[in-house]
Amino acid sequence: GTLVAHNLIQKGKKILVFDIFDEHSSSRVAAGLYNPVTGQRRTKTWLADELFPTIEPFYLSLENLLQTKFLHKKSIFRPFDSTADQNDWAGQSSENGLQNFLELTLSAEEYVRFYHAEKGGLKTKISGYLDVKTLLDAFAEYLTKHNMLIQAAFSYSKIVFANDKVCYENVIAKSVIFCEGHMARTNPLFNYLPLNATKGEILDVQIKDYNLSDIVNKGVFVLPEGKNQRIGSTYEWNFEDNSPTTKAKEELCLKLEKILKYPYRVIDHNAGIRPTTKDRRPLIGRHPEIKNAYIFNGLGTKGVSLAPYFSVMFVKWLLGEGTLLKEVDINRFPKI
Ligand SMILES: Cc1cc2nc3c(=O)[nH]c(=O)nc-3n(C[C@H](O)[C@H](O)[C@H](O)COP(=O)(O)OP(=O)(O)OC[C@H]3O[C@@H](n4cnc5c(N)ncnc54)[C@H](O)[C@@H]3O)c2cc1C
Repeated sequence: GTLVAHNLIQKGKKILVFDIFDEHSSSRVAAGLYNPVTGQRRTKTWLADELFPTIEPFYLSLENLLQTKFLHKKSIFRPFDSTADQNDWAGQSSENGLQNFLELTLSAEEYVRFYHAEKGGLKTKISGYLDVKTLLDAFAEYLTKHNMLIQAAFSYSKIVFANDKVCYENVIAKSVIFCEGHMARTNPLFNYLPLNATKGEILDVQIKDYNLSDIVNKGVFVLPEGKNQRIGSTYEWNFEDNSPTTKAKEELCLKLEKILKYPYRVIDHNAGIRPTTKDRRPLIGRHPEIKNAYIFNGLGTKGVSLAPYFSVMFVKWLLGEGTLLKEVDINRFPKI
């Protein structure tokens, strides 16, 4: 929602944002990693060649506008499991332009002190993390300063679609765009879409004498942030609420202990609910019957890397300046 709002403002559009500022929203809990290569098999993420060149310039320009730092460029180090794993990489490295995103690190001495990384590993090139909470707070301040923010719940029952207008209490607008994360499942206009909720949990820990600045990723990620390190994340499809659980804490600790040689203590533990989709593609587009109601959602586990590219595409399409990629268009799910 923040990035869509930003793009609309840049295009000279007058907007009004409603937000209830849920402290447990997916964005506020997220680690904010952007990582072009994921999974055991080191697979380039979907559309990495298109998405990744846009990420850093986009957030840097937003930092400039808001005069706040939230983009942290960092390598992500992935230790090899074994000599066989190292050899696999030799065969795999020429595949599919992977070498544009990964480089071999054979001498990994600084990591070996803390991790089982004796075989070296791979480092990502365009990667890092976004301090999403800082971005959201800075953007909210910007919106408030320009009278573009209402800190309240948007109530579906108060919305009236009349001719080409959308009326909401004393506000009259041309269109309404819903960017509600997992809460869109209760939106009467868009609840026909297959949006799921995937709970994720994350720990803040303090590892004794830790002095690495890169992110390390092997089963879990270890992201240095100030004096602490963030450890994540879990994926849970059946859950009761958004509270942190002992089960997830134990899962993360176990995974951390598998790679880490040093003692640590848990400082904090948080949980949030991601807006996910079965086909792992965003849900973007126009309501099939109500022509001035739009949705921008389904960013799943990768909001930080998907949002810059798709918010720009969405706003251009909305203003008649471009097309929407079929794979993200909600038209792929007909309303019955
Ligand atoms: C533990 C965890 C770790 C994660 N790590 C990463 C990561 O490393 N990298 C990454 O890219 N992604 C990560 N994610 C996923 C990321 O958080 C999401 O992809 C992204 O933040 C979703 O953003 P969103 O704006 O669509 O939804 P949300 O963040 O859920 O935001 C929706 C907003 O809408 C508001 N809202 C909803 N309904 C209403 C209403 N009726 N009225 C007013 N306001 C309303 C909410 O208050 C909220 O502010 C992680 C998620 C979790 C839970």
